[in-house]
Amino acid sequence: MGDDMKQHIKLIVKPTFIKNLKAGYPLIMEDAIQNKNDVVKEGSIIELVDENSRFIAKGYYGIQNKGRGWVLSRNQQEEFNQMFFDLKLQKAIAHRSSLFNDPNTTAFRVFNGEGDGIGGFTIDFFEGYYVISWYSEGIYQFKDLIIAALNKQMDVKGLYEKKRFASKGMYVDDNDFIFGQEAPSPLIVKENGMNFAVYLNDGAMVGIFLDQRDVRKTIRNKYSSGKTVLNTFSYTGAFSVAAALGGSIKTTSVDLANRSKSKTIEQFSVNAIDFEAQDIIVEDVFNYFKYAVRKELKFDLVILDPPSFARSKKHTFSAGKDYPELLQQAIAITEKNGIIVASSNCSTFSMEKFKGFIDKAFKATKGKYKIHEEFSLPQDFKTIEEFKEGNYLKVVFVEKLV
Ligand code: SAH
Repeated sequence: MGDDMKQHIKLIVKPTFIKNLKAGYPLIMEDAIQNKNDVVKEGSIIELVDENSRFIAKGYYGIQNKGRGWVLSRNQQEEFNQMFFDLKLQKAIAHRSSLFNDPNTTAFRVFNGEGDGIGGFTIDFFEGYYVISWYSEGIYQFKDLIIAALNKQMDVKGLYEKKRFASKGMYVDDNDFIFGQEAPSPLIVKENGMNFAVYLNDGAMVGIFLDQRDVRKTIRNKYSSGKTVLNTFSYTGAFSVAAALGGSIKTTSVDLANRSKSKTIEQFSVNAIDFEAQDIIVEDVFNYFKYAVRKELKFDLVILDPPSFARSKKHTFSAGKDYPELLQQAIAITEKNGIIVASSNCSTFSMEKFKGFIDKAFKATKGKYKIHEEFSLPQDFKTIEEFKEGNYLKVVFVEKLV
């Protein structure tokens, strides 16, 4: 549907939000809207205006957590037609040209929402196949234009979609396959020469988090040789694979989810690593920490990558509140001069605050530490200055000195 056929709506922005929106802030927060009780159809074209009807910006309406849509332009005349989407996609693809040309990496992000100029959806590339994630019903109204733009520019072997609508970005369980050839299950992709098995049609998560590519490479190349490695919240064990390929003595992967065991065995196997020489443990990480302390186990490299929020039988973990305590438990089972890889994808706090958590944890254990390196999102997860919260990833390599 072209925007000529869509409902056009004016939303009045509260005075305190105008400056930010003019300066390039792309998200239309629910709280910023004066007439927020007006009924607006998902996918409507909206004009943001001040109380005197003066134009601020335009975009589309789509409910996504506390957002009510995204700014797409600050030019009142701009139309969100095929050409608009073609140009945005073209620019995004050009930004990833070195990845498209790299035979050792065949899985990465091609379009990163607001970072590439259109909030509300992402496109990932996996060995010739593409996966689009839609974060609101609003952006889904532009589906045909977006898919047409992708098809014009790329040779799409097969296309999948993840509908993560609803208010909290919940995944809508559906058949994800849209057109083309169906990808093999598993599909083997490469990342800096490592293999990973992914499943494009098996729920919201495909088996690997692409935003950790640089971290996996760093673990493999610089921190694993001759080391014992504990990978907590290990999911399919991608960090363990990187460590094993980097020459670790042994990896121990711990995750609560039953299926993490077979998934981790599979990731080792597609890399020709003997999984029987590794430990893969299905258990609550917080229980495992207690066990390790009791058995006086210590590790040279400890990887911490918890979800932002998780509830298990005994624990509720919220990264913004509980990360320092999690770190303390990790410090207790890290060797002297060992490294902790502290990672969080929680968008509610900054890198600065995260480093504060690290400092707090070491102080509480009366330990000393040294930060070796830090990572945020990689280049393909493009972000913009004006939207800091879009750069949610924080990874810090910390050495435990004493
Ligand atoms: N580090 C992983 C991604 C982690 S996703 C990677 O790089 O691929 C978060 C994982 O934490 C999920 O697999 C979930 O099953 C697991 N998890 C959540 N709470 C847990 C707990 N209390 N103990 C162990 N695992 C937990």
